This record gives sequence, C-alpha cells and structure tokens, in this order.
Amino acid sequence: MRTEAWTAADAIGLNPTQLQILTFLVARGRAGMRVKQIAAYLGVSQPTTTDSINALLRKGLVEKRTDPSDARALSVAATPAGETAVRQAGQLASATEDAIASLSKLEQQDLLMHLVKIIRNLQTAGAIPEQRMCVNCRYFQPHVHDDPKAPHHCAFVDAAFGPAQLRVDCAEYDGAEPEAQRTAWHVFNRAAS
Ligand code: SF4
Repeated sequence: MRTEAWTAADAIGLNPTQLQILTFLVARGRAGMRVKQIAAYLGVSQPTTTDSINALLRKGLVEKRTDPSDARALSVAATPAGETAVRQAGQLASATEDAIASLSKLEQQDLLMHLVKIIRNLQTAGAIPEQRMCVNCRYFQPHVHDDPKAPHHCAFVDAAFGPAQLRVDCAEYDGAEPEAQRTAWHVFNRAAS
C-alpha cells in the first residue's frame, strides 16, 4: 500500500502526505475540516499539515472557507479539482484493491473485522489517534437487532447494518464519550468473539 501511495501521489504531482490529506478531505465533503483536526485525525504534526495544505492550496486542490460550526474559524475543503485528483490516484492505486477483491466475501468480512480490532487496540494503546470508525461513534448501537446479517444500528441514518458495512472512515462520524466507547466496544467485541 505504501508503494502504491508513493506511485499514485507522484503520478499526480503530490507527495504521499499531501495525497493522504487530500483524500481525507475529499471524504469529508464540502464542509471540510480545521487544520488542527486534520493533523489530529491523521497523526501528522501540525506544521507538516500546514505545509502540505499550503502546497494543495497553491495547486488549487483545496480551498479555505468559513467553518460551518463557527463563523470566526476557517476550515479547509477539497475543490472539484481535488476530487478529480483523488479519483485519478484511486484508479492508479488498484493493486491492493484487486488483491482484496480476490478474497471471498467471507474472507473480506473477516479481514475488516480484524482490521477494526487492530485499529481499536492501537488507539487504546495511544499508538494512533482516534479514528472515525463505527465502533468509536456515538451513533453506533452494536448487536441491537436479531438479524445476524444486520445486527448493528446506526442512529444517524436510523438503519440496521451488518459486519460487512462497518466503516473505518465515516464522514458522519461523531465521537462518543470514552465511557460510551468502552461500553459499545465491550458489547460489539464480546458478541463478535
Ligand atoms: S454515523 Fe457513520 S461511523 Fe457513526 S455509526 Fe453511522 S455509519 Fe458508523
């Protein structure tokens, strides 16, 4: 994946950190995000994030706009040109996707479950920042439905969903309080074990 990221970023004239930030912003949509939050979520230092965003601004791939939650603050959002660049990079970086697509649906689901557990354990150990995934989200209600194909519930869209739809980077994510995260994880992990 690292090799692919270097190749894809190079092909569209960016470095891997710039592409990582741009990809993250495209997933956030037009609302964008503040520089401090981008640095925190990606685990990149604030000066490096600022330098990368300045480079993306010069290339017209991102723009600064008033933060929707605070008129005095600025957030950074991807422009249509930024969205196109990420699409191009995604088309170039297909080897990993092809490798994952070669797994059976059940293997893909198991892989996702293992990844969620590894990410959660890394978070708990303080090795990586909190990620915008379902198991950390205040809208996540694990194992509240009897249907084994869709046992979880997302209160944001008010819909049931299954293990194959667990998200690891959701635009609608809103972090739950630490105690609520621990409780949800306990229910999710106990039933999944
Ligand atoms: S809002 Fe997103 S992260 Fe939160 S539970 Fe729903 S799908 Fe998962």
